[in-house]
Amino acid sequence: MTAPAREPWREPPIGLLAELTHRCPLACPYCSNPLELTRRERELSTASWERVLEEAAELGVLQLHLSGGEPTLRGDLEAIVARARALELYSNLITAGVGVSERRLEALAAAGLDHVQLSVQDVDPAGCDRIGGFQGSLARKLAFARAVRRLGLPLTLNAVVHRHNLDRLERFVELALELGADRLEVAHVQYYGWALANRAALMPTRAQLDRSVEIVKAARARLGDRLLIDFVVPDYYATHPKPCASGWGRAVIVVGPDGRVLPCHAAHVIPGLVFPNVEEKPLRWIWQESPAFQRFRGLDWMREPCRSCARREIDFGGCRCQAMQLLGDPEATDPACTLSPEHARIMALAEAEAAAPPPAFRYRRLEPVPA
Ligand code: SF4
Ligand code: SF4
Repeated sequence: MTAPAREPWREPPIGLLAELTHRCPLACPYCSNPLELTRRERELSTASWERVLEEAAELGVLQLHLSGGEPTLRGDLEAIVARARALELYSNLITAGVGVSERRLEALAAAGLDHVQLSVQDVDPAGCDRIGGFQGSLARKLAFARAVRRLGLPLTLNAVVHRHNLDRLERFVELALELGADRLEVAHVQYYGWALANRAALMPTRAQLDRSVEIVKAARARLGDRLLIDFVVPDYYATHPKPCASGWGRAVIVVGPDGRVLPCHAAHVIPGLVFPNVEEKPLRWIWQESPAFQRFRGLDWMREPCRSCARREIDFGGCRCQAMQLLGDPEATDPACTLSPEHARIMALAEAEAAAPPPAFRYRRLEPVPA
């Protein structure tokens, strides 16, 4: 007997993450992009992106996150931003900020860009170069950040933290203040894509994590509304998992450089799911009815301990991609949860990696990855 067809999903996504390109001048070993990156020749055209934005606005999307790779490598970014503005989508540029001139930034602001999120790999110039694999990166980022503020655009600094830069977390806070950022996102590395391949090189110790919690707590108390600080802890040291992407297919829709549509940027790791492409299917159908987006919505797919847990509608059983990556089972309870029978084993793995000398980075590159 076949299962009855499910009702189309009625709630629209709040945000569209548009991964415009996988090209990037940097090569961060924690990049969340897939190991197999999409090449330029397979990227969507300007006209296709404009149509995607129209379909997104019609579906009810409010926010457009322009990401990558490095989205400013697309020469048509101004046209995409202008289309977003015409459709009344709030546009947020997520950039590494190393190759963007002030003139380009002015053009983007004139096209209607609403917000800029700048990644800073480290406050120490040598550390910043080492993580990004790009010489002279910090000075360029700081010049970019100052240009953003001169143009009056709101600025968020993204600090991705790990064992190599956590000891400078207080200086990240000072830098955000000095640059006039509105928000600082302190995000411990999440281990997907290249970050998973580099987990042993990046995993912090429990002591480093605990200290980062104290620093963020003290900074929040000291600064109040002067600087909003978001904080994401590493899953491996968590008690409960995060509600990944606010729940599968609930709030966010991701369109990759080649038009493939996913409920989160890592969902391609789950075998057996066919993720539709915007060149073949309307965004509305993909969101509301495609089997891939329906797969982990609601509670019916859950097993114990999630099925009868009081938090099941808070964290939705955690991350399906992490359950797949770490346990080979996308329906399992995310092992970040202390109620998962695999939690202790995964925790011990993290602690052992953090205690060992870090191996060399495997930098994110477009070339095929050796086995
Ligand atoms: S994490 Fe680093 S390599 Fe990946 S897209 Fe961002 S800047 Fe580029
Ligand atoms: S058992 Fe499942 S629903 Fe409960 S806290 Fe853990 S992951 Fe969340």
